[in-house]
Amino acid sequence: MSQYMNPRFSLFDAYTPGEQPQDRQYLKLNTNESPYPPAPGVQRAVTAEAVQRLRLYNDPECSKLTQKLAETTGLKAENILCGNGSDELLAFAFQAWGHQGAAFPDVSYGLYPVLADLYDVKAVKVPLREDYSIDDRDYLGLPQGLIVIANPNAPTGLSLLPRQLAHIAEENPGSVVLVDEAYVDFGGQSCLPLIGRYDNLAVVQTFSKSRSLAGARLGFAAAPAALIKDLRKLKNAFNPYNVNSLTQMLGLAALKEKEYYQLQSRAIQQARESTRDALGHLGFRVLPSQANFLFAAHPQIGGEALYLALKKRGILVRYFSAPRTRAWVRITVGTREQMEELLTDIRQIIGGIRP
Ligand code: PMP
Repeated sequence: MSQYMNPRFSLFDAYTPGEQPQDRQYLKLNTNESPYPPAPGVQRAVTAEAVQRLRLYNDPECSKLTQKLAETTGLKAENILCGNGSDELLAFAFQAWGHQGAAFPDVSYGLYPVLADLYDVKAVKVPLREDYSIDDRDYLGLPQGLIVIANPNAPTGLSLLPRQLAHIAEENPGSVVLVDEAYVDFGGQSCLPLIGRYDNLAVVQTFSKSRSLAGARLGFAAAPAALIKDLRKLKNAFNPYNVNSLTQMLGLAALKEKEYYQLQSRAIQQARESTRDALGHLGFRVLPSQANFLFAAHPQIGGEALYLALKKRGILVRYFSAPRTRAWVRITVGTREQMEELLTDIRQIIGGIRP
């Protein structure tokens, strides 16, 4: 760091994104991307005309995309705000609603504590149960502030039901309950139908996972109009043109390809279940994930050792060094063939450590 850096950030730990090494071709199972390309209609949206239009500023309100999202979610445009990935919307949420503190699970998306630090939000980390599930009762009657729950949670893949999240919103009328549904399209149940029933319930979703658009950076928030106004104010204070025009077009095209994405999601869920079985047969403990990743631990090899052994063989998975997660690896579910490749290597690694 330079001598010019604000001292407030000298001890600040930023988020470490999943590695994207360029030294060789890896089978990338570390950042929960889709193994499938964006839908054909999305690919066709990248026309010469669309590129030429980059000369102009993009629509800061993402009007067409917002309208289409409103239609597909059954909400009004005033209930939707688009963001540069859902990460950006999470940042706005911490700024808008975290001034009295924020609560989230102790094992969850690593960006939450980083955003809390960045925006000087007092964080309350609510421990998961011993089995890594969220106990919804721990969230009833928390001190006022922001409550953030990834549903399904990451890196566990475990879910709550919408009615449990609704109950949390009911029992915390002084807080905003933000449900991060990055992985909901792989088998979870969305809280979108509950939007508007509670003043304090908001949802964020992303196009990065089930819609194969991680590199386009697109997410959206759905919430009562007053909460969307809060987020929009922060958006317009920070980066009014936050979603570029190509991404707006790609997002719009993606929303017209529901069947394509449902098919891919089903294939990923099938690959997830067969991989979970296979890992179970190899002695792994694997949580029953409803996301596009599996969280797995083996009694004979720690998370870091397995991560390193797989990396040496050209496969990237994610390892988290915190005490509660260091025995585990998080494996993104790819195609069936990719999962076979992973399992072949894991069999060899496990075989090598057996006496
Ligand atoms: N929420 C969770 C739980 C995630 O795992 C991720 C992906 N890292 C995100 C949000 C952010 O996704 P994006 O910014 O790509 O929309």
